[in-house]
Amino acid sequence: MADYYDLLGVSRDADADTLKRSYRRLARQYHPDINKDPGAEDKFKEIGRAYEVLSDPQTRARYDQFGEAGLGGGGMPDMGDMGGFADLFETFFSGFGGGGSPGGGPRRRGPSQGDSLRYDLTISFSEAVFGLERQVQINHLETCSTCQGSGARSGSGPTTCGTCSGVGQVRRATRTPFGNIMQVVECPTCDGSGQVIADPCSSCNGRGLQQVRKKLRINIPAGVDTGTRLRVSGEGNAGQRGGPAGDLFVVLTVQPHPQLRREGINIQSEITLNYLQAILGDTIEVETVDGPQPLTVPAGTQPGAVLNLQGKGVPRLGNPVARGNHLFTVKVQLPTKLHAEERTLLEQLAGHHTSKGHRHPHKSGLFGGLFG
Ligand SMILES: [Zn+2]
Ligand SMILES: [Zn+2]
Repeated sequence: MADYYDLLGVSRDADADTLKRSYRRLARQYHPDINKDPGAEDKFKEIGRAYEVLSDPQTRARYDQFGEAGLGGGGMPDMGDMGGFADLFETFFSGFGGGGSPGGGPRRRGPSQGDSLRYDLTISFSEAVFGLERQVQINHLETCSTCQGSGARSGSGPTTCGTCSGVGQVRRATRTPFGNIMQVVECPTCDGSGQVIADPCSSCNGRGLQQVRKKLRINIPAGVDTGTRLRVSGEGNAGQRGGPAGDLFVVLTVQPHPQLRREGINIQSEITLNYLQAILGDTIEVETVDGPQPLTVPAGTQPGAVLNLQGKGVPRLGNPVARGNHLFTVKVQLPTKLHAEERTLLEQLAGHHTSKGHRHPHKSGLFGGLFG
């Protein structure tokens, strides 16, 4: 497959708006309803795929680094199920502690956005249900505090790049079947900045960035699940030459619970009743995420029946007032041995049934006809 940037006709440092505009234009051009050329549909799909990858900072960063190989099964959960949660919840985050603000040095050509980072966080079953605030420590690149991101040793300052004479771009001839084509490309010596550092900053070796360990307080909303991805805006690596910082993506894993299972916003578990409770009904105490709760077992509850405790499930992500239900699947335990007294009573009951005209009470089960 062709390069995604080429497919969308944008440069590698295109911003989100440029990407979107270019994608929309091409999608209209190649839409199979409009364009009947053979191959238009395939092109349409390729453009869609390219935009899907490049419009997400995380997948875009992986694509930039590893190409298409970086996209397949890289251990990331399926983003398709997550809708737009990351964007939805970016406002839930707040950083604290002194985060160095980028910039400060002279604004030069060729700013580049910092990389987005991934942080994996495992939380408990009930933390996922009710949400939590968690402090995490991350490592990311911040603008170097010694040189304020200039990369130059204090007082020295950057000098004009000799390769491009400070323009930041050079012309390059590319041989093609149609002859030589002159292309203007980013200067390889100064990476487009037009300036080079003769005397680099000793703290950052001229990169203008330094590795910093930072504490972040993260509010995880109620109702998250394994694979939920939360974006902490601007807490990825700082950009270079005044470029914006990348984002931090917190990818959640929810530990399984020994008894409870999640089914979307519902919780499932099993309860075991003895045969008398199932036949006669009872009120029993059950374990829920809200602690022990009474559950009414109606008379005549069958094995495999599902009893519903409303509102004891998981809050809906983004609308915590709406909670799912806790569903209990009923198992009925029959006694393997009977006390003499119990046996006598049951035999009387069986006889009672026979006398009432049940012809084969034993074949149809001891209580087969009770509620039928
Ligand atoms: Zn520095
Ligand atoms: Zn240069």
